[in-house]
Amino acid sequence: MSAGKVYLVGAGPGDPKLITLRGLEALKRADCVVYDRLAGPQLLNRARPDAEFIYVGKLPDRHTMKQEEINRLLVDLALQGKTVIRLKGGDPTVFGRVGEEAELLRKNGVPYEIIPGITSAIAVPAYAGIPVTHRELASSFSVITGHESPDKLDLSIHWDKVTNATGTLVFLMGVAKIGYIAEQLQRYGRPPETPVALVRWGTRAEQRTLTGTLADIEERVKAAGFEPPAVIIVGDVVRQRETLAWIERKPLFGKRVLVTRARSQASELADKIDELGGEPYEFPVIETRLPTEEAAVQAVRDAIRAAETYDWVILTSENGVAFFFRWLDLCDSDIRKFHRARFAAIGPKTAEALALRGVRADVVAEQFRAEGLLESLAGEVKPGQTALLPRGDLARETLPAELGRQGVKTVEIDVYETVLAHGRDPFLLEMLENGEIHAVTFTSSSTVVNLLDALRRLGAEDPAALLRSAEIACIGPITARTAEENGLLVTVTAETATIDGLVKALCDSTTKRGNERR
Ligand code: SAH
Repeated sequence: MSAGKVYLVGAGPGDPKLITLRGLEALKRADCVVYDRLAGPQLLNRARPDAEFIYVGKLPDRHTMKQEEINRLLVDLALQGKTVIRLKGGDPTVFGRVGEEAELLRKNGVPYEIIPGITSAIAVPAYAGIPVTHRELASSFSVITGHESPDKLDLSIHWDKVTNATGTLVFLMGVAKIGYIAEQLQRYGRPPETPVALVRWGTRAEQRTLTGTLADIEERVKAAGFEPPAVIIVGDVVRQRETLAWIERKPLFGKRVLVTRARSQASELADKIDELGGEPYEFPVIETRLPTEEAAVQAVRDAIRAAETYDWVILTSENGVAFFFRWLDLCDSDIRKFHRARFAAIGPKTAEALALRGVRADVVAEQFRAEGLLESLAGEVKPGQTALLPRGDLARETLPAELGRQGVKTVEIDVYETVLAHGRDPFLLEMLENGEIHAVTFTSSSTVVNLLDALRRLGAEDPAALLRSAEIACIGPITARTAEENGLLVTVTAETATIDGLVKALCDSTTKRGNERR
């Protein structure tokens, strides 16, 4: 068997969008992903669904896997012919021991690539509004290891030279030694009033910044109980933060929000949360697909064959539209066969999806529920007419029942079905237990039921209890009712049942809570 290949990839400092395109491409190709905690958990979602994940970080019952063992693992996997990606926090060449990994790969004849990443040394200060250089304040910077362990003295650091070598000094792995670092820098000539900042978990929802001076920073770190991992920045550039801080000013800053929609639709919600400074955490729990049951398939085919018999085609969701058109294609049909029919859509997004395919809806319901469409249709539909309702297998019964009362004959077809997505996520349960998911969004009743199922499958005994510390945000009253029936305490319900409405409600609740805390 020919040897596989190993990609040593910088994953960036935490925000999953801070990986390079080349890194992402390698991740999408990999048979096997070797990762630890500094590589953002959400990145694993980008791997192939059937890729193997191997965790080499710290576990409660085990120390971090030894570097030699990791090196050996990479070689062994590659020798099995696999494409392996080793995800490393930040940039792999900055205190990442990539040299040792690459060296052993080379010795064993395993091809490898080193794909740089965005290092925390620069990105984390940037997310706190601190540029490492500045035309007037600092024309150079150094990145220095603090080695973390408080008892180990660093003979490798020439403090006399380091102190005065460059304008800005950036220390990684230095929190535990902050007192020693501050002392050495003062001893070799930095003034005690030199500004210092510590930024913990930069680019993530937990990002926190502490500032002070060389004289008082140790005391402040102790008083605040400030813990690693953090980047320490020493120099006048730290003051820039007062004017340049940016992400901390966004409405959803500090909030990690679980997005449970189907993967194909999740990105709209995730992008909006991201735009507003929150950290979307995608865990798709539903998937839509073509129906598999013979009877359902036959019903769709028959209905499409009878295209010319309908007075109305009523579409209730974007999914419904997408799958309806897929079926036209699968049945070798054409939308023009429906020339007798008028088209109705629930909600502007559904109408938009139709418009994208060249069909302008004759009636668009302003409300986002079936009841809204009934109001809009009143006076338009006539007794004795026939309506086709292409929709998902979970659609509610209100619409056909009410149309029936008005004397309209409805033909319902399940153009798609909703199934539980088999999301893998090695981090989610633990993050929920630790209160690291701050809000959970539900965009339909099936996302509620499926998330609870998925958590149970991941090993949670009482999934509802696991969600108790998070805000529960629902797109509308029906979803909220399902959530409550399943033991969740709904804290946010959107006024308008749209993604925008949901995001707005989330922002409002965050501001409100922020104000109460103040
Ligand atoms: N190769 C990595 C650094 C590895 S050393 C890089 O280029 O970023 C690990 C140290 O990096 C941590 O102790 C901490 O000082 C820093 N670090 C990494 N990610 C960080 C983050 N998101 N926030 C703050 N510090 C971080």
